[in-house]
Amino acid sequence: MEDIVTIYWKVSGSENSYTEQEATAADLAIAEAAKLLQNEETVAFPTETVYGLGADATSSAAVGRIFLAKGRPSDNPLIVHIASREQLAGLVAPQSLTSEHYQLMEAFWPGSLTIVLPVALGSISPLVTAGLSTVGIRIPDHPIALRLLREAGCPVAAPSANSSGRPSPTLASHVMEDLDGRIGGLVDGGATGVGVESTVIQIVESELHILRPGGVTLEQLQSVLPSTYIHESQQQSLLEKEAPRAPGMKYTHYAPQGHLHIVQGEDEEKVIAWIQRDIDAAKLRGMSTGILTFEEHSSKYQADCVIACGSLSQPETIAQELYASLRRFDEEGIRYIIAEACPEKGIGLAIMNRLLKAAGHRLIRV
Ligand code: AMP
Ligand code: MG
Repeated sequence: MEDIVTIYWKVSGSENSYTEQEATAADLAIAEAAKLLQNEETVAFPTETVYGLGADATSSAAVGRIFLAKGRPSDNPLIVHIASREQLAGLVAPQSLTSEHYQLMEAFWPGSLTIVLPVALGSISPLVTAGLSTVGIRIPDHPIALRLLREAGCPVAAPSANSSGRPSPTLASHVMEDLDGRIGGLVDGGATGVGVESTVIQIVESELHILRPGGVTLEQLQSVLPSTYIHESQQQSLLEKEAPRAPGMKYTHYAPQGHLHIVQGEDEEKVIAWIQRDIDAAKLRGMSTGILTFEEHSSKYQADCVIACGSLSQPETIAQELYASLRRFDEEGIRYIIAEACPEKGIGLAIMNRLLKAAGHRLIRV
């Protein structure tokens, strides 16, 4: 595609403590960005999960630009972002909302929960749903995202604002790296909060199926709806047999350019020793080496690039730093990377889901 000029706005400070100058800059950024969206252009903006690349969900011309800019396969549907529940009325099939849906919205909206619902025919561009009869919707929990959605006044389709296949952006600089010259604008609101994408769910016969783990955890969902479980189609082996309900699951995602695999084991010392031996062997083969580990273990390793990605004692910090860490290996030109697994509970489930995809599901148990 031909290069376009990407307009960049910096919004600093936080909404309730803006200086006068910051408030004016924020007003201007939001007004101009909203106008771009109304003009069927693409705009990247911060959400509480990762940066999203937004476009008017009702316009195929606009949504088409998202797929083009990202190089995203057209069979991978987009999540629609709205500013308030009132907007649901025009988007989802009448009578499709149940008391369970309302319980979830009450508990988790605004927030990192995407609810898959039957789409109201003709309400949004068919490109958004990639031919499915359902649409994934959420209200993001970020002041800039919410203001932008309100001012734009339309439902906004927004996948993560990265080139397809690369780690999702948690900083505006990541968006620039991937999409400068390919999108209409970028609102820089600093680092995102959660660091991994939303949890995608669907209610089927009163059971809650997690189609993609994310910012809202299994445990949090079970506290609202005990009938929550992880849908089997997340398992790679099943993907070939049935059409996945969250088609994004079948693609390699989030991957650094070097070879990445994950090592998992009960015995910490054994895992560390195994990884170091494997890294030493790679070094002997002349490869540049990297280790993705946690603050607690980083001093135990030697490699060209050892990254402490958050702390095991605070797994939310691992999620926050995961994608920036994966990008760092590329910046350092690392060709051989081993990642330590983290426990698969709480946010750890989403972290391991993304790591596995980044590693093309190469997992070694020791
Ligand atoms: P992204 O916004 O790039 O994080 O990707 C959106 C994710 O939501 C992908 O995994 C999609 O497959 C999933 N998704 C979006 N819409 C639907 C839908 N209607 N049904 C199931 N999954 C969906
Ligand atoms: Mg994505």
